[in-house]
Amino acid sequence: MNLQRLDKIISSTKNISRAIARKEILRGKVTVEGQTIRDISFKADAQAANIEYCGQALCYKEHLYIIMNKPKGVLSASNDKSRETVVDLVPENLRRANLFPVGRLDRDTTGLLIITDDGDFAHKVISPKKNIAKRYSVQLDGILKPEMVEEFKKGVVLADGTVCKPALLDIKTDTQAEITISEGKYHQIKRMFGTVGLGVTELKRLSIGALTLPENLPYGSCRELTKDEFNLIFDN
Ligand code: URA
Repeated sequence: MNLQRLDKIISSTKNISRAIARKEILRGKVTVEGQTIRDISFKADAQAANIEYCGQALCYKEHLYIIMNKPKGVLSASNDKSRETVVDLVPENLRRANLFPVGRLDRDTTGLLIITDDGDFAHKVISPKKNIAKRYSVQLDGILKPEMVEEFKKGVVLADGTVCKPALLDIKTDTQAEITISEGKYHQIKRMFGTVGLGVTELKRLSIGALTLPENLPYGSCRELTKDEFNLIFDN
């Protein structure tokens, strides 16, 4: 049993502050198992108890996992003073406190991004030690050469001496490839191609683990991950 304070449960489920949730409890707007609860320190098991707010059953989820097709020009951050962030794109019905993107895609990178409020999950996805594959489609400003496949497989050494883990380079055309990495250093893919004299003109993340970007998710759109999709992330 996971007991939590009622104001916390109401606040996270209804995307309102703890202070407002407490006021709503004091006003008698919350019932647990049919009983009106006015005690703000009351604790309940949100998964098991029948909790109603304003007469409607709460659909409680401890954490939220959102899949987004990140468009260009949007910052991978929770908030920013002047620039639009990926969390700004999350629709009202999926909004809750503490949402953040799992790893950062550059502003001009598009594609698969997970947004969550679960720090442990994010760590597992990002940590190089967990070896979760991230596959990208990349367009280059010059010609790819077959020997680059071997260089990337050995582990590229970036201009500043940083050694990258082995990466899988799958050349599709003279100037287009898919690359799979299992870490997320700053501007990693752009810097990796920089070591072989190529500039990246388009970068799109296609998959994380075995979870691929759904074809029917337009740029800028997002939705909750299904349970099966969630599991695919850890299915390398
Ligand atoms: N590597 C990059 O260079 N940019 C990204 O956005 C992701 C990986």
